Amino acid sequence: MRIVLLGAPGAGKGTQARLLATHFMIPNVGTGHMFRAAASADTELGREVNKFIREGALVPDDIVVRIVKERLSHADVSSGFVLDGFPRTVLQANELDEALEEKGRKLDVVISIEIKESELIERLSHRRTCRHCGTVYNTLFEKQRPKEEGVCDRCGGELVQRNDENPEVIKERLRIFNENNEPLEKYYSKKGLLKKVGASNYLTPQHVFADVLAALAK
Ligand code: AMP
Repeated sequence: MRIVLLGAPGAGKGTQARLLATHFMIPNVGTGHMFRAAASADTELGREVNKFIREGALVPDDIVVRIVKERLSHADVSSGFVLDGFPRTVLQANELDEALEEKGRKLDVVISIEIKESELIERLSHRRTCRHCGTVYNTLFEKQRPKEEGVCDRCGGELVQRNDENPEVIKERLRIFNENNEPLEKYYSKKGLLKKVGASNYLTPQHVFADVLAALAK
């Protein structure tokens, strides 16, 4: 299974990517998490991308493509992967297709997680992310709160509010998403790969995941 997840910031891509990766036993490749980890470890890549992330801007295509191609050259993705947060532009989508073609591979499906903008803003401002493993919690929903406030259930890491989750930066991230998403959806729709799944603050991640699996089975 080679799966791409599309969706606005806060739509729940990260959570669905994790569930898909566990279900199909394939690696979860999340560019946002990769960049944030590099930034907090103060690596050369981190220093390159830090400014873009802080401002809610996209990291330039050449950097993102280089990092993803490198990741997709590892042996563990030979039988599949879930891509979360990549591609975000048509140029990135083209580069991904070319990189896969070179290896005689192609994508199986692209799932777009759709949610209303008003719900996204509410969600994003209540989101807490594990600094260590990237697991996402949401203090808005009882079932998505950590057992102990501020501590990750999975690894014991510290839960923080991402510095790109303040109202100004959220607005900018949503603006950029709205600008790029339509051409990206058209690109995959033309290839017959696009499937849309609805999410909402009234649905649990497990409910959305059942809909994702149903879309994959169609
Ligand atoms: P995310 O956690 O997926 O919302 O990503 C956080 C930030 O990482 C984004 O706001 C961008 O600055 C950067 N980023 C992640 N993936 C990409 C990508 N495919 N293209 C450009 N920038 C990206």
